[in-house]
Amino acid sequence: MITIQNLKKSFRTEEVETLALNGVNLSVEEGEFVAVMGPSGCGKSTLLNIIGMLDNPSEGSYNFAGHEVAGLKESQRTQLRKGNLGFVFQSFNLIDELTVFENVELPLIYLKMSKSERREKVKTVLERMKIAHREKHFPQQLSGGQQQRVAISRAVVTNPKLILADEPTGNLDSKNGIEVMNLLTELNQEGTTIVMVTHSDRDSHYAHRVINLFDGQIVTESQNRAVGAMV
Ligand code: ADP
Ligand code: MG
Repeated sequence: MITIQNLKKSFRTEEVETLALNGVNLSVEEGEFVAVMGPSGCGKSTLLNIIGMLDNPSEGSYNFAGHEVAGLKESQRTQLRKGNLGFVFQSFNLIDELTVFENVELPLIYLKMSKSERREKVKTVLERMKIAHREKHFPQQLSGGQQQRVAISRAVVTNPKLILADEPTGNLDSKNGIEVMNLLTELNQEGTTIVMVTHSDRDSHYAHRVINLFDGQIVTESQNRAVGAMV
């Protein structure tokens, strides 16, 4: 699904140039659950943003599902992103002015789905994420765990092939964190590929494979033997 070769990314601000990624090689197979770990500032979010086509590499190649991303027009990239990718962030990134229902409906509006179809899909995913009883509430009226369940609902309502999660449990207590990890595990067991950035050893145990970044490079990679949901 993902093939990355010699990926580099530099950021230039006034006088300083930061090499956020310095020659990353990475392949992710369809159906895998990969955790990316490493200290603050080592390039984890930059890598995830490039995989999510939210940012472009400075050098190297990135192939997603058979498409060489650098060669795509912005409109093609948007098209590829729309149905294939779901994002989950540490800070939930919900729209405060929209209700739970409307937040989750948004990606379906972008896909130009009919109102009745949108309604059915949103209802189904909210039931599944056990947050349907809050559909008329606004994000600020919910707990952190509930907000993240809404954010995951929004990420999966389009049935994406790949979920990109950037420290999805970073703002949650352990009970809600485990609940979110169990939801991600379930989605993965149904075939969704997941690439997740995390600081948490607990969360990394849910992944099939753990990649450690340091100063913009992959320094170690390990395979997890026992994988599965915790109770
Ligand atoms: P991590 O997610 O591992 O904490 P990041 O990928 O956010 O790390 O950042 C990697 C490095 O790139 C850091 O030194 C950070 O300051 C720098 N960086 C990230 N985004 C930008 C940006 N938009 N402009 C300038 N520097 C950036
Ligand atoms: Mg980060």
